Amino acid sequence: MKLTFCGANLEVTGSCHLLEAAGKKFLIDCGMFQGGHYAEDRNWNAFPFDPTTIEAVVLTHAHLDHCGRLPKLVKAGFIGPIYTNPATADLTRIVLLDAVEVMRYNEKKNGVPVLFDESDVEETIRRFRPTDYNHQINLADGVNVIFKDAGHILGSAFVKFSAEGQTVVFSGDLGNSHVPIVRETTPLGEVDYLVMESTYGSIIHEDPQNRVYLLQEIIIQTIKNRGVLMIPAFSLERTQELLYELDSLVENKLIPPVPIFLDSPMASAATDVYKNYPQYFDEAAQYLIGRGDDFFKFAGLKITNSVDDSKAINDVALPKIIIAGSGMMNGGRILHHLLRYLPDPRSTLLIISFQAEGTLGRHLYNREKNVRIYGQEIEVKAKIDAIGSYSAHADQNKLVEWVKSAKVLPKKIYLVHGESNSMKDLEKRLKRELDVKVVTTHIGLEVEL
Ligand code: ZN
Repeated sequence: MKLTFCGANLEVTGSCHLLEAAGKKFLIDCGMFQGGHYAEDRNWNAFPFDPTTIEAVVLTHAHLDHCGRLPKLVKAGFIGPIYTNPATADLTRIVLLDAVEVMRYNEKKNGVPVLFDESDVEETIRRFRPTDYNHQINLADGVNVIFKDAGHILGSAFVKFSAEGQTVVFSGDLGNSHVPIVRETTPLGEVDYLVMESTYGSIIHEDPQNRVYLLQEIIIQTIKNRGVLMIPAFSLERTQELLYELDSLVENKLIPPVPIFLDSPMASAATDVYKNYPQYFDEAAQYLIGRGDDFFKFAGLKITNSVDDSKAINDVALPKIIIAGSGMMNGGRILHHLLRYLPDPRSTLLIISFQAEGTLGRHLYNREKNVRIYGQEIEVKAKIDAIGSYSAHADQNKLVEWVKSAKVLPKKIYLVHGESNSMKDLEKRLKRELDVKVVTTHIGLEVEL
């Protein structure tokens, strides 16, 4: 087998790996490069392979940095099937259509042409072959693949290829431990070669089991202040976990009654997909569903999909809680709420996700006293709080434990999907604790397996 690294090397976006086996070519993920905006130049570059020669694509999960260039691949002549989990297929459609909307906005504002349009997305969706976990798929003569639960977001998988008497696993993204709804990552099992993500290869997360109490404290304080609590959240997984935890606080009367708005059409569409796949939930979530507790629905929760409903949130008396995108506050409905409530000292902004350099979220996270929103200078008088344990990614401990869960260690581990320092730190620890060969990859690297 031959493996070529075509994206997400020394960085965390643009996942794309080319596997050649039994005389055929397969692609694992085909994600978008993201650098704060969709105008990232490299997305327009030609693929380093001929898309018409790819036999099939295997997609690990629905995040844009893993699926975002699939419509471009189809546009460039790929005509084969795309194998993925059924929930991933549904979520990917939402993610790709949202990407088109963002690109159209960027086209209007900055004159950057769109990479693909709605019809390319629909053509891509037609190529999906939804396949459940643990079912072996025969991709070609002598080449099989199987999906295993990665515990990262709904439908996420790591994939194991078998061909030419060898096995290779592509981790996709691996989930954080002890988080609600999704299951724990399936153990690695026996494998010859491992291609593993290293997003948080340097980081040890806070324990997620305490975060619900931190959330409770912040809500109680907001209610006491008669203020508004704004929570910017990513549409996939983070929002659903937040709803799950708010449901438990409300149902167990651990917080006083308060209106809670989910003001993100993409997050509510994604939540509807979650509701369709309870079979992928962990035991605790399945138990709740089994006794009739829909944790995406609880007293006080209002879903505001239309623009008018969103605007009407302004008229609701304080206190209130607003969950809205985008997660890094570089766009989306959260901006309108920030504009209105950041100057109010009774308000709180709760940051629960990573804020990239250069985003409004990062400025606020750094406690800057003045920020610009829609060209207006805003004085920040709201309280800024942060809870760091809402990450959907495995940390260094989890990554190492996952490798250790293999009965026999892989012959070689190729690190991908991580910045240089994360890869180096993880490589050091893996080599120190396990007798295993580790390779940090760069784009264009070709290896024989
Ligand atoms: Zn991901």
